[in-house]
Amino acid sequence: MAQLSDEQRMMRQSCRDFVDDVVLPFVKQNWKQEWSMEPEGRLPASILDSADKIGIRTLGVPEEFGGVELEKGTEVATFAMISEEIARGDSGLADKLVQNWKVSVLLRQLAPRPLQEKWFKRLVDDPQFLLAHCLTEPRGASDRWLPYNVPEAAMQTKAVKTDGGWIVNGRKQFISNGYDAGLYVVYANTNPKVGMQQGTSSFLVPRDTKGFSVARCNETLGCRYMNNGEVAFEDMFVPDDHVLAEGDALGKAGVYFRPGKIIQAAKNLGVGVRAFEATSEYVQNYVQGGRILIKHQAVALRLADMAVRIEAVRSLLERASAAVDADAPDAEVLCNMAKVFASEEMMKVTQHAVELHGGNGMMLDFGIEKLFRDAAIFLHMDATVDISKMKIVKNLFPQTAGKYAGPE
Ligand SMILES: Cc1cc2nc3c(=O)[nH]c(=O)nc-3n(C[C@H](O)[C@H](O)[C@H](O)COP(=O)(O)OP(=O)(O)OC[C@H]3O[C@@H](n4cnc5c(N)ncnc54)[C@H](O)[C@@H]3O)c2cc1C
Repeated sequence: MAQLSDEQRMMRQSCRDFVDDVVLPFVKQNWKQEWSMEPEGRLPASILDSADKIGIRTLGVPEEFGGVELEKGTEVATFAMISEEIARGDSGLADKLVQNWKVSVLLRQLAPRPLQEKWFKRLVDDPQFLLAHCLTEPRGASDRWLPYNVPEAAMQTKAVKTDGGWIVNGRKQFISNGYDAGLYVVYANTNPKVGMQQGTSSFLVPRDTKGFSVARCNETLGCRYMNNGEVAFEDMFVPDDHVLAEGDALGKAGVYFRPGKIIQAAKNLGVGVRAFEATSEYVQNYVQGGRILIKHQAVALRLADMAVRIEAVRSLLERASAAVDADAPDAEVLCNMAKVFASEEMMKVTQHAVELHGGNGMMLDFGIEKLFRDAAIFLHMDATVDISKMKIVKNLFPQTAGKYAGPE
C-alpha cells in the first residue's frame, strides 16, 4: 500500500467504521430491500445522511463552496482509496457517491462561477442531492468511448441553437443516479457535419427543467442500491449560460473520464476485498471432510488465487492513479488498463467466493452472490471490456491502431 498522509489515513478509517457499523449491517439485515421495486425507498435516506456526516458526499467540491477539497497532487488516489472502502460495504452506494465527486470535478473545471455557486451550494446543503452524467443513448455508447470520430456516429440527442439558448431533443439510457439526481450533465450533438470530437456540446440541466423527464428506473443485475435511470428531453430549452463546453465537450470531459476509470477499478477492488474477507472467514470455520475448508489444499489454492488477483489489481491501480494525479503521458493508457484488469480479475475473485461457499454462495440471504452480481456490472460500466482493450491498443499504437474509421 502506498504511503498515506495523515488526512488520507483518517478518511480511510472513518469510511471503514461507517461501512462496518452502518453499511454492512444494513445490507445484511435488509437483503430483500435490494429487490424492492420502489426505487425511492431502496436505500434509506439515513445512509446518505451518514455518508454526509463523514464528509464523503461532496469530495471534489471546492472548499470555498463548502465541499471537501482534497490535496490536489493525490486527489485521484484518495478518490480510489475511499471508493474501495465504500464499495467494500456496497457497490451501489459507492456509485451514488462517486458520481457526485466526478461531476463536481467536471463542474469546477467547466461551469461558470454563478452556476458553481448555486449548484455546489445545493449539493452541499442537501445530503440526498445527487449528480448524474449523461452520455449513453439507446443507440449505444461504444462509438463514444473509442471515439469513432465521423458524423454518422454522432449522438442522436441534438441541441439546436435558438435565441438565448439551445433546444435539446433526445434520450439517454443506463445513467448512474439517472433516476433520482437533482442535476444532470447532458451531452448532445450541436454540429451534424463534423465528427463527434468537434460537434458535441455539454449542458447543465436541473431536474425541474421544462421538457426534461425521467423515463424509467432500470432494474439491474448488481449495484442495485444505485438507481440507474433513463432520461428524456423533449424540446428542452437550456439557456446559453448553462453550456459547459461547446463543440469540444468530449475532449474537455477528460477530467471526468480519467479519474472515473480509476474510481471504477477501485470500487471493483472493494467488491473483491469484501469477497475475500467473507470467504476467508468462511473457510476457516466451515468443516467438511473432517477439517475446516482452508486445510484442504484445493481450497487453499483458490484462496491464494483470490489474494494474488486482489494485490495485482491494487498495484496497477496505485500506479495508474499516481499517473492520473501527475497528468503523466501514460495516464490515459494506465487508467484504462486498471479499469479493465480490475473488472476481469474481480469477476474471478467473486467466482471463487461463490464456489467456496457451496450452496450458501447461491443463497440471496447469505450475501455472497450479491458480490458476484456487483462484480459483473463492472464488465459493462464506463465502457465494455473489449472497448477498454481497444482503447489501450489505440493508445499504445496511435499510428496504426489509433485509426478505426475511414479508408486506409
Ligand atoms: C450500471 C451501469 C451504469 C452506467 N452509468 C452510466 C452513466 O452514468 N452515464 C453514461 O453515459 N453511461 C452509463 N452507462 C453506460 C455504459 O457506459 C455503457 O453501457 C457501456 O459503455 C457499453 O455501451 P453499450 O451498452 O451502449 O454497448 P454497445 O456500444 O451497444 O456495445 C454492444 C457490444 O458490442 C461491442 N462493440 C461495440 N462497438 C464495437 C467495436 N467498434 N468493436 C468491437 N466491439 C464493439 C461492445 O464491446 C459490446 O460487447 C452505465 C452502464 C451500466 C451497466
